[in-house]
Amino acid sequence: MKCPGQDSRKLTISYHPCPNCGKPVEFFSDEFRLRCPNCKTIVMKEQSPSCIQWCQSARECIGAELYDKLMGKMTEQDST
Ligand SMILES: [Zn+2]
Repeated sequence: MKCPGQDSRKLTISYHPCPNCGKPVEFFSDEFRLRCPNCKTIVMKEQSPSCIQWCQSARECIGAELYDKLMGKMTEQDST
């Protein structure tokens, strides 16, 4: 007697802290991007998504603010 919704798809749950408020956000294994229920910040499953380094629409995808924050970190060493 198992719920088919739980058994048919082998979804796993993991928690990733919100970069803004630190609250753990519940991710199912088929989700990679969620909005923090606490502060509404977009939370990425990967702490620093590598796709933003090359993806043209990364800025729109994750939001300009987070994009600049992440890219700012990544290009810290570049002091030209
Ligand atoms: Zn948050």
